[in-house]
Amino acid sequence: MKPTSLAELRDAVRDSTGTLLVKGAGTASGWAGTPTGVDHELETTGLTGIVAYNPADMTVAVRAGTRFSKLQEELAANGQRIALDPARVQAGATVGGLIATADSGPLRHGYGGPRDLLIGVTMVLADGTVARSGGHVIKNVAGYDLGKLLCGSFGTLGVIAEAVLRVHPLPPATRTVSIPCDVTEAVELTGRILEARLEPAALEWYGGALHARYEGLESSVELRAAATPGGTVDHEASRVWDGEFVVRCGSRPSQLPAVAKHATAITSSVAVGVHTLAVDSATAVERLRDEFELTVCRRPAGSDLPAWGRPHPAVPLMRAVKQRFDPAGRLGPGRFAPWF
Ligand SMILES: Cc1cc2nc3c(=O)[nH]c(=O)nc-3n(C[C@H](O)[C@H](O)[C@H](O)COP(=O)(O)OP(=O)(O)OC[C@H]3O[C@@H](n4cnc5c(N)ncnc54)[C@H](O)[C@@H]3O)c2cc1C
Repeated sequence: MKPTSLAELRDAVRDSTGTLLVKGAGTASGWAGTPTGVDHELETTGLTGIVAYNPADMTVAVRAGTRFSKLQEELAANGQRIALDPARVQAGATVGGLIATADSGPLRHGYGGPRDLLIGVTMVLADGTVARSGGHVIKNVAGYDLGKLLCGSFGTLGVIAEAVLRVHPLPPATRTVSIPCDVTEAVELTGRILEARLEPAALEWYGGALHARYEGLESSVELRAAATPGGTVDHEASRVWDGEFVVRCGSRPSQLPAVAKHATAITSSVAVGVHTLAVDSATAVERLRDEFELTVCRRPAGSDLPAWGRPHPAVPLMRAVKQRFDPAGRLGPGRFAPWF
């Protein structure tokens, strides 16, 4: 099924029976568990385009199947952007897919993740009801904030049809300072950079260096870059996603060295404590999972390594929310297994 309007999407959910797997561009189709017992695939890539955009309001309403890179191009024509830079954007990730996976990149340090940039959402519930939450303005506290609940829901609570996102101005200048160091030094340096109030937009460790990215006016980024120890190099994309087993892992920022010792390659938002790691085997994933919360994003074909480990204390709450939203268990079968 590939609806091209909100009404078609509503009808597709309402008039079908059985289970539904929501699919965007498919860049994270292996995340959060292997789909099982899928009766229908519901593709969102026919739901594209901007619904409403007034640059002066600093918000944009966009259909969920729109490629995020395409949205950024349209915003850039007005000197604006959404301050979100996950690696999957280059692979064609959709707006809905990025929200459903709560994915983020180095800019998470300065701007937060999808939940911090999403201010309104239109969704289709498992029974075909169209529900709206939030609005088009940044100051908005009325009603339940369902948008935040959908961030990281992996298509299990509802089908995201449209999103209202906060936009930021494109920075007039950027500078990245790279400081060669090991992960232990990276934690210590991160503390010093934060204390010095240099306000980097990103503080990312990968490839044997801590990369501090500054954004703002030319004179400002120049001053802040000069106040950071180390030499200036170009900001390169990380190669970590080339690994056979790739996991996303959360920890206290100071625990980066303990996480990194399990990795063959790692990129880490040091101060946020979100790490993406390549590891060399399923056993290495399980060893890491003994110590830290993680989810497996990529595994070799044929591997039955589960996406999630021991149920953490919030799982009963997650199950209760799932039961309310989707009592018949139609949406995203197999996601969050064995927790759901
Ligand atoms: C017209 C208007 C528009 C606004 N628009 C926005 C907006 O767009 N965005 C925004 O962020 N803010 C907005 N605000 C502000 C926002 O409403 C308040 O910041 C918010 O309600 C919190 O208020 P408060 O901390 O004073 O708590 P209160 O208003 O005093 O209380 C909020 C609720 O919490 C309960 N409560 C309070 N203390 C306790 C306690 N100790 N234990 C248990 N329950 C407690 C109260 O009984 C009440 O139900 C707006 C306010 C107004 C008047």
